[in-house]
Amino acid sequence: MSPLRNTVIAVLFGPPGSGKGTQAGFISEAFNLTHVSTGDVLRSEVAQDTPLGREVKPIMDSGELVPDDLMMRVLESTLARGTERSGFLFDGFPRTLPQAEAFDAMLASFRRKIEVLLVLDVPEEELHARILRRAAAEGRADDTPETVRTRLEVYDSETRPVLTHYEEAGDNVQHIDGVGTVDEVQERIRKAFEPIVRGRVAP
Ligand code: AMP
Repeated sequence: MSPLRNTVIAVLFGPPGSGKGTQAGFISEAFNLTHVSTGDVLRSEVAQDTPLGREVKPIMDSGELVPDDLMMRVLESTLARGTERSGFLFDGFPRTLPQAEAFDAMLASFRRKIEVLLVLDVPEEELHARILRRAAAEGRADDTPETVRTRLEVYDSETRPVLTHYEEAGDNVQHIDGVGTVDEVQERIRKAFEPIVRGRVAP
């Protein structure tokens, strides 16, 4: 049986510092979804000093993206495990056009597609400030002013086209105002999500 049968397939999208990780954590708990953060998966490989972790650490520290073929391997192993929950919430994936195309093809082989892609919109100045605050609080190695600039540039050049790809395909892309308190933004996301998951998720 397909590991993706009847599961919710949702993506939370947004630039670095938009609050994706925090919100994805809340929303996946609220709607009983498996939160798939490719950044978290990679950070855990780095922390465990695995061969994959050693390969990706310098790339992550520089603020650049990990190569697509490697990311697709990470994703395949995640999907192959399936989920005990009602579906998946992807956070930080897909992040390039080739990843989006490979993901679409993989989902199509299960006769599935992304059901909703929520975009957190936050103005650029606010992003800088937020990431630097997070650096002070969490000490992430890729949160220095230099890598922040790189990550925002990479978002514009590599990741934003993914959004255009889904918008042009007529997929369910919804913009969420990402400015406000964590609770306010969470409430907006919850409202957008409810019609999608209604009847399919045991809350
Ligand atoms: P994040 O926690 O999502 O901001 O990801 C942290 C870092 O992990 C990124 O700056 C990339 O180096 C790497 N990374 C995470 N997800 C991806 C992805 N889908 N494609 C390429 N690199 C990724």
